[in-house]
Amino acid sequence: MDNMIKADFHVHTNFSNDCSVRAEEQIESAINLGLKFICITDHCDMHLYSDKKYVLDIGVYINKINSLKEKYKDRINILCGIEIGLQPSLKEAISDNINGYNFDFIIGSSHAVNNIDIGYNPDKYFNGKSEKEAYREYFESILENVKTFDNYNIYGHLDYVVRYGPNKNKYFKFSDYKDVFEEILKIIIQNGKGIEINTAGLRKNLGYPHPHREILKMYKDLGGKIITIGSDAHLSEHVGYRFQDILKLLRELSFKSYTVFERQVPKFINL
Ligand SMILES: [Zn+2]
Ligand SMILES: [Zn+2]
Repeated sequence: MDNMIKADFHVHTNFSNDCSVRAEEQIESAINLGLKFICITDHCDMHLYSDKKYVLDIGVYINKINSLKEKYKDRINILCGIEIGLQPSLKEAISDNINGYNFDFIIGSSHAVNNIDIGYNPDKYFNGKSEKEAYREYFESILENVKTFDNYNIYGHLDYVVRYGPNKNKYFKFSDYKDVFEEILKIIIQNGKGIEINTAGLRKNLGYPHPHREILKMYKDLGGKIITIGSDAHLSEHVGYRFQDILKLLRELSFKSYTVFERQVPKFINL
C-alpha cells in the first residue's frame, strides 16, 4: 500500500510532432515528483504518412531512450514505449513498421477514423453527423481495432472523441454507447490487453480523466485488471498530472492495483 501513484505510462517528448520538450526534461520532472517509473510513449500515426513528421524514426528513438535508461538508472526506471494510431486499414503498415523492435510498452490509440484525424480536423470529422452518431462511429471504430490488432498492450484514452465534439461531454451519456463498450472491453480482457486512465481529460476540462468513470466501472465489473496511469504529458509540468485524484478514483472503484510494463510484461503495483 502506498499513498501515491509512482508510474507515468503515457509521456511525450520532442520525438512527437506535437511536443517540443526534450526527454531529459520529462524524466527530470518525474524524478522531482518522486516517481519510480516513467514510460516515454511517442506518437506514431501512419495515417498521416505523407507528412514525415508524424512517423517516428523508431531506430533513432529507441537508441535515445535506451541511452537515457542507462544515464538515469540510479534515479528512475525509464521504459521505452510507443503510442500507435490504430486503424484497420493500417494493419500491415503498422506491423511492418514496428516488428523487430523491442518496446517495453505499446499504447494503441484511436486518433483518426477513416483517415480523418479527429484532433486536427474535428470540423471534417463531425460534419454531417449528429454528435451522438459521430461518437458512436468513433467507439465502433475502436471495436473494429480491438478485433483487428493484437500488437498493443493497452488501449489509450477510450473516449478521446468527446474532447472534440461540438458540445464535448455536456450531453455524453454512457448508456447511449453501453453496448459498444461492453463488446470492446470484453475483447480487450479476453485478449489479455488493458486500458489506461489518462489525465489529459482533466487538463482538457472534461471534469474527469479518460475514460469516463462508468467505462472504468464496467471494465472492473467485467474482470479487467490491467490498467496503466498516464498523464499524456506534452509539457514537463504535466508529468504525473493529478495522479492523487486517480489514486482516489481507483480505490473508489475497488481496483486493487495498477499496472506497469517492462518488455511488454505486465506487473501489478498494489494500491
Ligand atoms: Zn493519444
Ligand atoms: Zn498521447
